[in-house]
Amino acid sequence: MMSFYNDVFLDSVGNTPLVSLKKLFANDKGIDVFAKLEYHNPSGSIKDRIVYHIIADAEKRGVIKPGDTIIEATSGNTGAALAMIGARRGYRVILTAKHKTSREKQEVLRMFGAELILCPNEPRFGDAEHYVTIAARMATEQNIFLVNQYDNPLNVEAHYLTTGPEIWQQMHGKVDWFVTGGSTGGTISGVMKYLREKDQNVKALLADPKGSVYHGYFKNGVVNPADLGTYQTEGVGEDHVTECMDFSIVDESMQYTDAEAFAMVRELAAKEGLFVGPSAGGNLVAVRHLIDQLDKPARIVTVLQDHGAKYVSKYCAV
Ligand code: PMP
Repeated sequence: MMSFYNDVFLDSVGNTPLVSLKKLFANDKGIDVFAKLEYHNPSGSIKDRIVYHIIADAEKRGVIKPGDTIIEATSGNTGAALAMIGARRGYRVILTAKHKTSREKQEVLRMFGAELILCPNEPRFGDAEHYVTIAARMATEQNIFLVNQYDNPLNVEAHYLTTGPEIWQQMHGKVDWFVTGGSTGGTISGVMKYLREKDQNVKALLADPKGSVYHGYFKNGVVNPADLGTYQTEGVGEDHVTECMDFSIVDESMQYTDAEAFAMVRELAAKEGLFVGPSAGGNLVAVRHLIDQLDKPARIVTVLQDHGAKYVSKYCAV
């Protein structure tokens, strides 16, 4: 499906490898864990899938054409995907991001020629100075195309059309659990929609960083402002419930701390030779809890959303 551009590089989005994590999750319960290496995407993260799909769709519909300007609020990975496609296709790209975005991610965005507007970490969703509000406001005022990853159904559709089918095929149609975090919710909602169509017994575990409102929302059905906090794990968890996040497909939720995620990143690198970002570490913390709870054989799948090289300065600071 990723073949719109007729460009060997851009069209290499998706079809990422799936590997078995035998050493990290050695157990005698017959539980096998598989991880999809999403950092194999051309700009280094899972977000290439949705940006490709959304930009290709807008081009097909004639909404944008090379030379136009595109804007988006990003935790860095959507921005990198957009900045990469922008550089390659000839778009001007403007990105808003929180100050907490790692130095590496910020520099990469600028290298691709994107204009980066850094916004404070603290404002609440809906506040005038929140990075999502700033991008939306600029889009309206200046009539610029907004990717709108949080509420754009094409985000979920990209995972329904690519990540879900790839997992199903690579797992030979045998999946018991899908584990991942949510920000826009595109990954978990799109993948689960596909997997449930294939087998309604597949279960989803949401891995949520402490400081995000999703875990509390899953448990109690309301956003509790007291749950909100700042955390260093990037790109995952949310301060509001997005349109793309479909809680009806979530079976369990589990919280992890920055410290647990960062420690897991180191353990994974040392035991499996895979170097990933903190949100991928968080997924694996949740997988470990799940293994502890299960008492029979199971096949668990997760996604490792991006590469650890994007966060070396952060890993070195703790
Ligand atoms: N981890 C990282 C590193 C990400 O960039 C993202 C996307 N923001 C996610 C997790 C969450 O994915 P999704 O937006 O599909 O819920």
